[in-house]
Amino acid sequence: MRVRTRFAPSPTGYLHIGGMRTALYAYLYAKQHGGDFILRLEDTDRERLVGDAAQIIYDSMKEAGLCYDEGPDVGGDYGPYIQSERRDIYMKYAEQLIESGDAYYCFCTKERLEEMHASGATKYDKHCLSIPLEEAKRRVAAGEQYVIRQNVPENGEYTFHDLVFGDVTVPYADLEDNVLIKSDGLPTYNFANVIDDHLMGITHVIRGVEYLSSTPKYDLLYRALGWEPPAYMHLQPIMRDARHKLSKRYGAASYKDFINKGYLKDAIINYIALLGWSPKDNTEKFDMAYMLENFSVDGLSRSPSIFDEAKLRWLNGEYIKELTDDEFYAHALPFLEQVDYLKGLDLKYLSTLLHSRCLSFADVGPSECFKDMRTEDDLSVNLTEFVTAADKLTPDMFVHAKNKTDAALARDMLPDLIKLTEERWNDLYPALEEYAAAKGVKKGAVLWVYRIGITASPVTPGGATEMATLFGKEETLRRLNAALELLSRQ
Ligand code: GLU
Repeated sequence: MRVRTRFAPSPTGYLHIGGMRTALYAYLYAKQHGGDFILRLEDTDRERLVGDAAQIIYDSMKEAGLCYDEGPDVGGDYGPYIQSERRDIYMKYAEQLIESGDAYYCFCTKERLEEMHASGATKYDKHCLSIPLEEAKRRVAAGEQYVIRQNVPENGEYTFHDLVFGDVTVPYADLEDNVLIKSDGLPTYNFANVIDDHLMGITHVIRGVEYLSSTPKYDLLYRALGWEPPAYMHLQPIMRDARHKLSKRYGAASYKDFINKGYLKDAIINYIALLGWSPKDNTEKFDMAYMLENFSVDGLSRSPSIFDEAKLRWLNGEYIKELTDDEFYAHALPFLEQVDYLKGLDLKYLSTLLHSRCLSFADVGPSECFKDMRTEDDLSVNLTEFVTAADKLTPDMFVHAKNKTDAALARDMLPDLIKLTEERWNDLYPALEEYAAAKGVKKGAVLWVYRIGITASPVTPGGATEMATLFGKEETLRRLNAALELLSRQ
């Protein structure tokens, strides 16, 4: 049997991280078994809103390396792969179920259903099941509005096997006679998933745990149509915290959101793989090749996982370390370009200074600038704020116990530092070293005074002369002179 799995998102305009994880596991499972991975868009719930929303899904999946063998934009032998384009397929199966007594026409009005629910009913009461089939067909032919419902047994229970949850038993009493075909002639998810998965030859259905308890209904449909149900793998959700699912309402939740927050696609895929699956050897950082080798169903979790952005940041930092300076620059540039006060600086040079210090590309700006892109813990990260901090210079910033510096020493040294900057710009570092030796102070003292003088920041992404190089000779002199002026006023 050739393994075939599918990812079946609704084109909502963004690819939720939970959906992407489902896609990843389905992809891994298919590819591990030498099988096919299929993309199917389930758009029958809404007005045909495919367009852009579909494109976001195609692009995100391909970018993340989840290449599907068949799908709306790549074709395949089992198409169409967009549900609304399959609308003519479903009716004949629904009619077959009606003939076998596994489904029935229902003419209940909205008002009747509302009354039924208002009087305490929790599920449809099978009212229309008693209409003789010939009469129901006459009413349909006469143009009366109808839906088609599944006829679920009233007594007994159904047991099926799930590869994650083991044997699952659901009493029929918990199940409702759901609508299979809506009054507009389109199938509901409850029907389309069965027909599509069967006709597309899907052998393993991997999807969210919210469908676990409905699975007996789907199996009944497969059997009524004389088909073998697929194997199932239901996945627990990804949570924001113990009580809430990760959702768009509470900030980032889609693949693109995390890309925009400055995470690398490989880090995102790596991290979401860990949300619900643990490799036997507990490795945390791995690539697609590792996952293809090591993914296994018995490592899938039966409980929900919590999205921990601090952990994603850590992992992303590990990936960032592996980038070359050029790659880092290419990723960081769009973020650097958004920071006004960096305009005019050599961003390439700045990015090499920032490379070893960033956990996400959003770190390259001031804390305010990328506020929405950071986690709460990260708001203190301000790797470039030194550029503007010089205005906030105060004399006490020169105090450094270990270097034995203070404002008085700084005032004494600054005229010399200005002179050295003017005369020895091209070999500034050795010039400062020689100066320290001649003056009988620590090299650290000279570098500290220099760096505080031009940045007013105790923490900067590079040393004194690197900061000077970044600003350029003219700006560095302007800053040193401003520092001297400030100290001379004291
Ligand atoms: N369209 C459904 C969803 O997005 C698909 C569920 C499934 O994979 O069967 O939840």
